[in-house]
Amino acid sequence: MARVPPASATGDQVRTTTCYMCACRCGIDVHLRDGKVRYIQGNPRHPVNRGVLCAKGNAGIMQHNSPARLRKPLLRVGERGERAFREIEWDEALAIASGWLSRVRAEDPDRLAFFTGRDQSQALTGWWAQQFGTVNYAAHGGFCSVNMAAAGMYTYGGSFWEFGEPDWAHTRYLMMWGVAEDHDSNPIKLGLGQLKARGAKIVVVNPVRSGYGAVADEWIGIRPGTDGLFAMALIHELLRADRIDLDYLVRHTNAHWLVIDDRGAPDDGMIARDSEGRPLCFDRGSGTLADALGCGIQPAVVGDFTLADGRRARPSFQLLAQRYLDPQYGPDAVAERCGIPADTIRRIAAELAHAAFEQSFVLPQSWTDVHGRRHEGFVARPVSMHAMRGIAAHANGFHTCRALHVLQMLLGSIDAPGGHRFQPPYPKGTPPGNRPGKTRRPDGTLDAAPLGYPQSPQDLLVDADGQPRRLDKAFSWQHPLAVHGMMHSVIRNAWAGDPYPVDTLFMFMANMSWNSAMNTRQTQKMLADRDPATGEYRIPRIIYVDAYDSEMVAWADLVLPDTTYLERYDCISVLDRPISEADAAIDAIRQPVVAPDRDVRPFQDVLLDLGARLGLPGMVREDGSARYPGGYADYIANHERAPGVGLLIGHRGEQGDTVGKGAPNPAQLEAYAADDCFFSAPVPEAGLYYKMANRDYLDWAQQLGFLPPAKGRGSREELVFQLYGETLQRFRLAARGHGEVQPPDAERARVERFFDPLPFWYAPFEHVDATADDYPLSALTQRPMFMYHAWGSQNRWLRQIAARNVLYVHPDTAAEHGVQPGERVRVESAHAAIEAEVGLHEGVEPGTVWTWNAIGKQKGAWKLAGNAPEFRRGFLLNHLIPERRADGYAHADPVTGQAAWFDLRVRLRKL
Ligand code: SF4
Repeated sequence: MARVPPASATGDQVRTTTCYMCACRCGIDVHLRDGKVRYIQGNPRHPVNRGVLCAKGNAGIMQHNSPARLRKPLLRVGERGERAFREIEWDEALAIASGWLSRVRAEDPDRLAFFTGRDQSQALTGWWAQQFGTVNYAAHGGFCSVNMAAAGMYTYGGSFWEFGEPDWAHTRYLMMWGVAEDHDSNPIKLGLGQLKARGAKIVVVNPVRSGYGAVADEWIGIRPGTDGLFAMALIHELLRADRIDLDYLVRHTNAHWLVIDDRGAPDDGMIARDSEGRPLCFDRGSGTLADALGCGIQPAVVGDFTLADGRRARPSFQLLAQRYLDPQYGPDAVAERCGIPADTIRRIAAELAHAAFEQSFVLPQSWTDVHGRRHEGFVARPVSMHAMRGIAAHANGFHTCRALHVLQMLLGSIDAPGGHRFQPPYPKGTPPGNRPGKTRRPDGTLDAAPLGYPQSPQDLLVDADGQPRRLDKAFSWQHPLAVHGMMHSVIRNAWAGDPYPVDTLFMFMANMSWNSAMNTRQTQKMLADRDPATGEYRIPRIIYVDAYDSEMVAWADLVLPDTTYLERYDCISVLDRPISEADAAIDAIRQPVVAPDRDVRPFQDVLLDLGARLGLPGMVREDGSARYPGGYADYIANHERAPGVGLLIGHRGEQGDTVGKGAPNPAQLEAYAADDCFFSAPVPEAGLYYKMANRDYLDWAQQLGFLPPAKGRGSREELVFQLYGETLQRFRLAARGHGEVQPPDAERARVERFFDPLPFWYAPFEHVDATADDYPLSALTQRPMFMYHAWGSQNRWLRQIAARNVLYVHPDTAAEHGVQPGERVRVESAHAAIEAEVGLHEGVEPGTVWTWNAIGKQKGAWKLAGNAPEFRRGFLLNHLIPERRADGYAHADPVTGQAAWFDLRVRLRKL
């Protein structure tokens, strides 16, 4: 693509790096004059944005020059919350931090709670926590969209989020569920442009018609928390009309695998297996039980069969069909609850089937499947889905997300042309094989990284009594599949000493006293609360790292100032959150384009420095010297996770000429920098679709180190989609009294209910607790397209778009309450109340009110003027959301611990 020059001579130098004004990670060219940033331009050569730059990306220059940037390490001298600090030198700051941390590690490493907010360095931070030896580590996924990630990983080894994408080139029908304009925004905008040009239909399911909804062909204003019910009604209709892809189901899912029906037995509900542990099906061709992973069989998907031991078993598809053909999932039964007319549900189901089957075609490309069979083309199912936080941030989000994946599977569209496509390194196992670390080795390190995917109750972090071993209670019987941790529980639990007190809370880029906290006012009290017996803070020490003077800074004892994204290296790794496309594995770096003009250091450098000072095994050599004296850049290039496997896949090997696996290359970062800061490894043409069962893809993925070698013959069992969630059934059996690791009695009924191997719908708890009469409205926040981080609302350019927020209500709702636009209302939940200014919005379903996220700021923060509109006229719904429910559980999904932000119910009173 031709490079578009800036309009006039903008600078004397152009340096290339990667944007960090949102999680999209577009390529940018930064124009400098006299060493100062003058202009930021989209990089037309970059695969993510192809030159496109959004308003946030442009405003990066103001982020970089922000008056709110921290300038030097700070040590608290007043009370917490007073913002009274003394500037100190780095030597003193690092000596204090390493002194606190070394004592913790010597006494009990779990007394360090290390939680990082929005972060692109989890491959480093998780490894650091593992080396330190604490189980109490997590990043921000638990309060973001872990339901999306977990449901995907436990169902098909992939996810929406940014780990898969609609087949923009071929889809004829796209449904977007609960998607705001944040993650992946430039690729989605570019993709929607393609769909519009081709006349493909775009349907948006969201209580609020904003952003993508505005350009959709159809907006379905669903009631919050009922998406799963809608999806199950669509499944009902497809099954009823027999409009499903059975061939796809038996090739790629466990639809035909036999489920043992032996109530009371320890393997009831598990998959029947042969003596080698391979799953069984009933082969209609031979009339016998057969290897369900085998080739040349004609498996039954319905029926009642007898196993060799005389017990009964049925194909999982039959269980699925029985469930969703039940009238309770019929369009007429769900219409009112979802706020969608039954005829609309029937029409959408028919349109999905029409797109999948009548608009199908064959993409000519020969390929070889896992059984070695050649195919002359890829069969298309040109219907695609994308979903995000609007689905995930409900207490029923895990099962809702699973229902969406079941819908996709019935249509045969996951990784088919026109469907939802895996982006390498996905697919991974269903779920991936890495379990959370739980045992400390003799050198003090954990046996694995603290976050992972439990596959059975044995993988949980619970003590002998079944009580949580982690501070946030992730991987406990309360939230067994909390695969991203539960950051939203950390401050409350640390304050309460529940399940135990911590010594040091170490947080990075997590505004946990404000817009990333539920129950915000109370959270601030907890941060400053003292134990009356000792007079000491209940959370004894807080180290906080940020680039900006956010609300959270006020509550820290020690503040370590980070750089801006234009002043440091970052690594956008396949071990973490790469920028791959379905056609290529792609990773990237950020490089410093300017030197800091303040006394600040990149957090990753600081973390490695602290690790060396503490003598953490991976961070020091045998002589005790730092293993990565060159900081994060040194680590990116030279760290090996396994022999030949590092953070970046490009320019590996001593000569820089190997891809995927290879020895560290000290010149790797220079090679990336010379090549627009990214590396792309294209998937072979024959491996572009059906990646989960495509030998051409799997051989390539194995070669690059994305997948371990296949264990057996035929299909890889770990890549077969779990239409029926056998992993979930393992937990349910434990609740029924089977196995060595069982839940405490108090948790059995809850685990039994929520670990259903087939998706089911239940009303969000808040909708049940807060009765319709008392709190009749749902209240949501949407992240604006012009502001991604809380950071953005102190950015001089972005503040000109919105420096205050209003509560948007449907005109009918406003009329019911007798309020006019601009008037103020009291917004009350069962927990707390705030005041807000009303705005009218026809694009919101009448039972919902909403506002932009993270505009309201706390006075004194962000170096904003004392009369800034963000302080006076901005507000946060977070104040209204309790972090715990009356029954003592976190306000979260019971399966994954995902924060249930969008379950909030309120009422309005005119002021
Ligand atoms: S979409 Fe995100 S990464 Fe891309 S330019 Fe905008 S802010 Fe930057």
